[in-house]
Formats: sequence, C-alpha cells, structure tokens
Amino acid sequence: MDLGLYGKKALVCGASQGLGFACAQALVLEGVEVVIAARTLGPLKAACDALREQQNMWAQKSGVHALGVHLECVDVTTAEGRAQIKAHHPEVDILVTNAGGPPSGDFRNWQRADWLAALDANMLSPIELIKSYVDQMMDKGFGRIVNITSSAVKSPLDALGLSNGARAGLTGFVAGLARQTVAKGVTINNLLPGTFETDRLRSNFTHQAQVRGLPYDQVIKERLSKHPAQRFGQPSELGAACAFLCGVHSGYINGQNLLLDGGSFLGS
Ligand code: NAD
Repeated sequence: MDLGLYGKKALVCGASQGLGFACAQALVLEGVEVVIAARTLGPLKAACDALREQQNMWAQKSGVHALGVHLECVDVTTAEGRAQIKAHHPEVDILVTNAGGPPSGDFRNWQRADWLAALDANMLSPIELIKSYVDQMMDKGFGRIVNITSSAVKSPLDALGLSNGARAGLTGFVAGLARQTVAKGVTINNLLPGTFETDRLRSNFTHQAQVRGLPYDQVIKERLSKHPAQRFGQPSELGAACAFLCGVHSGYINGQNLLLDGGSFLGS
C-alpha cells in the first residue's frame, strides 16, 4: 500500500535507537524527509547514517529524489532542546513524540523532583512539542501526531508508578485535543508498546536477573512462557504501525490508543 507520504517532513524524537529509530526507519522507507532527535551525538550520527543509506537505496529503487535525514542533538525534555528543533525545522507534517521512560521503584521513595522529571519527559514535553507544531499543521490542512506511550496506560504496572501517572496525564490531554484538530486534517493517536525487544527492555531484564540472582536467559524464558505470543515485539512492527497511522489513508483514525502487545492485555 502506498501511504502517500512522499514529500512529507517528520520529526521523530528519541530516535537514535529502539522504538523511535524504528518509527524513523519506517517513515524514511515511505519517502519522508525525517529529522531525528536524541541526546547523545555518537549514536545519533550512527542512526542518521544508517537512515540516509536506507533512504538512498529506497530512492534509487523508486526512481525518486531522496529528501534527506537530519539530526538534532538535544534533550527534548528541555525548553532549549525543543526551541533548537523548532528554530531549525519550523514546520513539519508528522510529529512522533518519544523519550526515555522513568525509572521503576516504590512511590514512598519518590520526591517531588522525581515526579517533575517524569512529568517533563512523558507528559509535558510531548504537549509542548504538539503546541509548537499543531497550529501550523492545521493551517496546512494535514498533520499526523503519534505519541509513543506504554501499555501501562491500559494495564498499569505497580513498580512503574511514575510512568503510569505521567502517561495517563498525556493520554487524557490528547484525547481532548484530538477532537479539536481532526476537522483540519490533523490526527493525534498514541501507540502503546507492550514488551518490545530494545536496549531498554534488555537492560530491564538484566536488572531483574541481577536482583533475583538468576541467569538472564532464565528470566527471559519465564517471561515469554507467560506471553500469549511467546515472543517479544520487534521494533519494526511498531515502526510499521506508526507509518500507517501517519499515512494519508488514516485521516479517520483519531484519538485512539493502539495497544501493540501481542494480546497480553486481557481485554477487548
Ligand atoms: P530505548 O532506551 O531503547 O530508546 C530511547 C531513545 O530515546 C534513545 O534514542 C534515547 O537516546 C532517546 N532519548 C531518551 N531520552 C531522551 C530525551 N530526553 N531527549 C531526546 N532523546 C531521548 O527505549 P525504547 O525501548 O525504544 O522505549 C521508548 C519509549 O517507549 C520509552 O518511553 C519507554 O518507556 C516506552 N516503552 C517501551 C517499551 C519496550 O518494551 N521497549 C514498553 C513500554 C513503553
């Protein structure tokens, strides 16, 4: 299916690896000009080089001009970081918000600063980025906003209280906003990953294995045995869902929370 995205421009946050990178990759392979943002220059440059190579190959095969991949080395949770992106890229057609998730723990140990950091990363930064771009998208009559949140929005995990709280706030806010933008061609949806095989997942399992004094492979095996799909999600699967939501055919999908968890959540 042609998603009709050639010539569009996207900003993908948290995109040097993992789910953000997979979204950027899926968009690049649809002919989108992509800006990737992340905090650390080395991995960001490597990601940018990989995406440029894929885009060039795609363009050669399709016989069209490659529109480019740009990088912004910023912390998207800071006002300065977001201002830098906006100064270099005042207009985009697609915005994918994403940043690292907050740490796990016991809420009795969290201080106000911990809550503010979680809210900044997983609620307020996406809202500020949306504020920067949504009016310009509505003026042009086309826009796609996709927020990477978490399956914890539907099925909260006890140790991830900071994530549960911050993401619930973002979900509530965008549910209201999406109904105000769709008539101008701008949709806002959330992707809710379950367990996807990324560095974050691997480091979570490494930590669990250390705490429980078990081999890493055993912790993984235990987890998969309880999973209906008996496997973790691949980032490319989430990337493909993101590209579809961004496509021209998805204009009537709006204000949704799309769970990608292989059926782990016991609800319909
Ligand atoms: P990851 O750690 O593999 O990748 C995160 C990316 O975001 C990296 O490129 C990192 O450099 C970048 N990043 C982090 N903080 C940033 C910031 N402040 N500014 C700019 N860039 C920043 O993580 P992932 O597994 O791809 O997860 C992405 C998001 O999805 C996280 O919020 C995570 O909590 C959530 N999530 C992931 C899973 C999963 O199974 N992987 C499940 C549920 C939710």
